[in-house]
Amino acid sequence: MRVRFAPSPTGHLHIGGARTALFNYLLAKKHNGTFILRIEDTDEDRSTAESTRSIFESMLWLGLNWDEGAMPDNKEKGAYGPYVQSVREAQGIYRKYADQLVREGNAFHCYCSPEELEESRRKALTEKRDPVYDGRCRRLTGDQRGAFEAQGRKPVVRFMMPKDGAVGWADLVHKEMKFENKVLSDFIIQKASGYPTYNFACVIDDHLMEITHVIRGDDHISNTPLQVHLYAAFGWQVPELGHLSMILGPDGTRLSKRHGATSVGEYRTQGYLPETMRNYLALLGWSNPESQQLFKKGELEEKFDLKGCQKSPAIFDPVKLDWMNGEYIRTLSREEFVGATGPYMDQFGLNVPLSGVPRADIVALEQEKCKLLAELPAKVEFFFKDPVYDQAAVDSTLKKPEVPAILKGVKEAYCALPEFKDVQIEAATRAFAKAGGFKAGQVFHPVRVALSGRTDGPTLFKMIEYLGKEESLKRLDKALALV
Ligand code: GLU
Repeated sequence: MRVRFAPSPTGHLHIGGARTALFNYLLAKKHNGTFILRIEDTDEDRSTAESTRSIFESMLWLGLNWDEGAMPDNKEKGAYGPYVQSVREAQGIYRKYADQLVREGNAFHCYCSPEELEESRRKALTEKRDPVYDGRCRRLTGDQRGAFEAQGRKPVVRFMMPKDGAVGWADLVHKEMKFENKVLSDFIIQKASGYPTYNFACVIDDHLMEITHVIRGDDHISNTPLQVHLYAAFGWQVPELGHLSMILGPDGTRLSKRHGATSVGEYRTQGYLPETMRNYLALLGWSNPESQQLFKKGELEEKFDLKGCQKSPAIFDPVKLDWMNGEYIRTLSREEFVGATGPYMDQFGLNVPLSGVPRADIVALEQEKCKLLAELPAKVEFFFKDPVYDQAAVDSTLKKPEVPAILKGVKEAYCALPEFKDVQIEAATRAFAKAGGFKAGQVFHPVRVALSGRTDGPTLFKMIEYLGKEESLKRLDKALALV
């Protein structure tokens, strides 16, 4: 099995592209095949080296290591290169095959201007015909061609589409697919610049790179009949073709910027783990018979198959993604979690807690509940600087008549503690509550808000221990002043 991911470097790697890359990667792993990365930069205006770099980076972050193909720093790996289409173009690979099709009568030069084409399209629509190319350059004489060239027109090369019959394939996901040839245009295979179009370069490369399975998004289904025609014209075997379901946002419209982050890089920045993304992406359009949701390391590589790919659209569910990230965060060792959160903490200058306990201890307090690494700094900031009192928390918790007495009593109890560890703090707090006839919660809640500014947070007595005696007493005073 030889499979490829063939991104066009016109932007960052998006969720859909990453899903395609992952499925190809998993197939190659499962079948001991080869996973190839080919850069399809035939869109001269929109392709950028920066996008290529960003795609490499996202693929590597996701752990989708490829066996062959374009590599960072303009390097390559594999025996079927070059793997970058602009480089292949410069070697004349595509022109050679375009010339062959022209010579054999399967393609022709077309000199029509955009205005002429637009007019013919409009005419077809008013006459209620399919707005396909009208074939006017199909049989130009040498003289006619000479006249166009004398006008300075540069021809494109078009494929000679049969007028009758149909074309089809047995799609690995969508099953039997069939298109009437009459709805297909004499599509362009080579632009006036001499550059190949996507459909042409893709077929030439998939053939020359001996790709056995083409797995891509179903937004390409309309291209596939054209590509199948090209294979036939060359007398080449068509690879197995599978088109993955579309990805929709939670509102049922196609996933886009409107739904939030769409690029893998943005998810990385927000603090999703690569393991989460791989697991989550795997379930976009695929499931196993057990409807398993979480996969251990290496398990997807074993269990993934095309049989489980569905053709109905997949829904991108951010709530599920967050849940899954929390699950993966909990599987990290303490060191891994602390390491992963480091950059987020650094970004906000949260380096040394006020009490002087190691930053790692503070961070580790949040591992159980953390869903998103980027949310961590805001949650632990109060260990590093003065708390910002949340007004709603103050109103709901501190503005009760018994609170001043509670804060004062707790302060005295803490003051008297010779050792300021969670066990002693808890015992002292409970003893105070009992003696004063308060329910535990009646005391715990205002203490938490007084010390952290918030109603939620890490386990209370560890939190107080890590804040330290001095800082805790100071904050109780501050809260007392506030109420
Ligand atoms: N360059 C195409 C894209 O990014 C690849 C499509 C294909 O896999 O054939 O959509």
